[in-house]
Amino acid sequence: MTSAPVHVLPDAKGRFGAFGGRYVPETLVAPLEELEAAYAAAREDGSFQAELNTLLRTFAGRPTPLQYASRLTEFLGGPKIYLKREDLLHTGAHKINNSIGQGLLAKRMGKKRVIAETGAGQHGVATATVAARLGLECTVYMGTDDMERQRLNVFRMKLLGAEVIGVNSGSRTLKDAINEAMRDWVTNVNSSYYLLGSALGAHPYPQIVRDFQKVIGEEARAQILEAERRLPDLLVACVGGGSNSIGLFYAFIADSNVKMLGVEAGGRGKSLGEHAARLAATQGFDGARPGVLQGTYTYVLQTTDGQIAGTHSVSAGLDYPAIGPEHAWLADQGRAEYAAATDEEAVAAAKTLARQEGIIPALESSHALAELIRRAPGMKKDQLVILNISGRGDKDMEILSRYV
Ligand SMILES: *Cc1c(COP(=O)(O)O)cnc(C)c1O
Repeated sequence: MTSAPVHVLPDAKGRFGAFGGRYVPETLVAPLEELEAAYAAAREDGSFQAELNTLLRTFAGRPTPLQYASRLTEFLGGPKIYLKREDLLHTGAHKINNSIGQGLLAKRMGKKRVIAETGAGQHGVATATVAARLGLECTVYMGTDDMERQRLNVFRMKLLGAEVIGVNSGSRTLKDAINEAMRDWVTNVNSSYYLLGSALGAHPYPQIVRDFQKVIGEEARAQILEAERRLPDLLVACVGGGSNSIGLFYAFIADSNVKMLGVEAGGRGKSLGEHAARLAATQGFDGARPGVLQGTYTYVLQTTDGQIAGTHSVSAGLDYPAIGPEHAWLADQGRAEYAAATDEEAVAAAKTLARQEGIIPALESSHALAELIRRAPGMKKDQLVILNISGRGDKDMEILSRYV
């Protein structure tokens, strides 16, 4: 019970059961194979792991605390709740774990420049931060609508020395930014590394991002064993692309008594276009079916004739039509459960955590708390829950002030 058993997916083809894989144009096959080989070598290299651990500790602020939320526990009257405090990391969220890992991988591969896409700007800021620390050039693609909405993050990236390129095509948001970033990568693949921000995309990205985020669950597992002398009954995390949640879940996958709950964006309604719930279909959210998006086979929100659907969420980090393939597999296996919380429930949950624990969480993380608030009264007082606070709410003040 003291060491986490190893779970071996994806397979050699990058598959998690039926999901995952590599659905890309011919021009990307060689770069992805190069990345796969470089990552396999880095993974086994003690000096790479040592450098990674040093940066996580001295630059990012790991390990993050596992905090017993005594007032929230009492307030909800249900299970004993612990918070994994990823909000305390440098740049304010878990994303820096992955940016540090892939930044080091880029350097190891001899690349001088990293390319990233960003929606709300959180991944762009984390990547620009790491690029500055490692002495890499950094280009971030961002839809012009998103740039307008997230002016402060655009300024942060520029201050950190990154070039921010506005994308004026399509819906002028994240998926258009991803297309432009891919185009840049194909053109400049010898000098440039594509630093993907969630557990998504073609193999080996879902595996790489999960591996750089699994430190969350490894720490939490040791911390709960230290504090309670036993494993938790339930893990709860929000799911956008799926990186903070798989990061928490991964070390517990073989512990069949530990339940895992991923919480998606229920938005403002159950019809297609009003939400970003890809796996919470049992709650009546419309439009998710298996399909290919951005290089991977997974659950995708789409119209009946296969067009990628629009999505809505109050939190930009959860507002995406596809989910990481490992979550699709965990859902199909019945190993993890997925639910959705609405915009309003998330905002109310943010307010509850602020008042009960003195922590203003990111609106993404607030979705996970909202679902826990719904379930806590039905759980036993001697049960243990770990809730991942994936980020802090500073970035969401303007939205919160409109609601509260
Ligand atoms: C980006 C983001 C998310 C969603 O991304 P995942 O890959 O699903 O973790 C969640 N929380 C915060 C704070 C974020 O910035």
